[in-house]
Amino acid sequence: MNSNKWFTEQMLSTGTAFSLKIKEKLHEEQSDFQHLEIYDTETFGKLMVIDGCTMVSTRDNFFYHEMMSHPALFLHPNPKRVWIIGGGDCGTLREVLKHKNVEEAVQIDIDERVTRLAEIYFPELCESNGDSRADLKFIDGIQWLKDAAPNSVDLIIVDSTDPVGVAEGLFGEAFYRDCVACLAEDGMLIQQSESALLHLDLIKDMRSAMQTAGFSHQQTLFFPQCIYPSGWWSGTIASKAELIFRAEDCANKDFDTIYYNLDIHHAAMAQPEFFKKAFA
Ligand code: SAM
Repeated sequence: MNSNKWFTEQMLSTGTAFSLKIKEKLHEEQSDFQHLEIYDTETFGKLMVIDGCTMVSTRDNFFYHEMMSHPALFLHPNPKRVWIIGGGDCGTLREVLKHKNVEEAVQIDIDERVTRLAEIYFPELCESNGDSRADLKFIDGIQWLKDAAPNSVDLIIVDSTDPVGVAEGLFGEAFYRDCVACLAEDGMLIQQSESALLHLDLIKDMRSAMQTAGFSHQQTLFFPQCIYPSGWWSGTIASKAELIFRAEDCANKDFDTIYYNLDIHHAAMAQPEFFKKAFA
């Protein structure tokens, strides 16, 4: 077998690319919404690719799933009702359900095929799908928010693909207005906000739209994510009230993580100089 096979994601808009040496392609299909591929790699385990973009790998997904859930959950006074928009690989859902005070975690992904493939190729990410608090829905997150009732959620995690195609509407003011309308008074949103090195203008646009939509506070946090463009990713938090970090709860957390802890929380929330200046 040709041992020199690689999967490469080229990001033309940023002139960057990322490659992983692969053993073989395990699956490929066109769902009703996206082109889905699964690879077996030499050193990163399984790799899921959506519309040509790396999505999740066995080896490094913990950075993203832990950092898109735990900081926000510990920055909320008492998060009981959590919605995950996207998140079809179920890794974020698994992290959210580690918090005992969470009473319901609804995952709303437009494409059921992503979850069905995750169940086969990333079973470890799906191990909490049977939790009585978990509810998996397969509909457009944009429509879900349009239909949501006021005061129906405490934390919204937008764990979507890049702001193109079916995910594009998740990055605009109309969506954020719907989020403001259905979040409780102390509610908050965290959204994957791409790479601060490569996509600073996108983050500026997102935060401006969040502000206009009615979120009085925004903060971007940073974390490594090897398989994404630049290897340095971000999540942007938007809240209706001041963020109150439950540091003691974080320090005394009763569940395991691979990356996230109290020190990492503080490091992730620290603002790089270029970023401070961009928002001065
Ligand atoms: N960790 C990945 C990242 O940051 O690129 C995202 C993981 S998850 C696989 C991304 C999910 O967003 C996909 O399963 C996709 O189906 C979902 N998605 C995209 N647009 C959506 C929408 N409008 N409503 C709900 N889910 C959506």
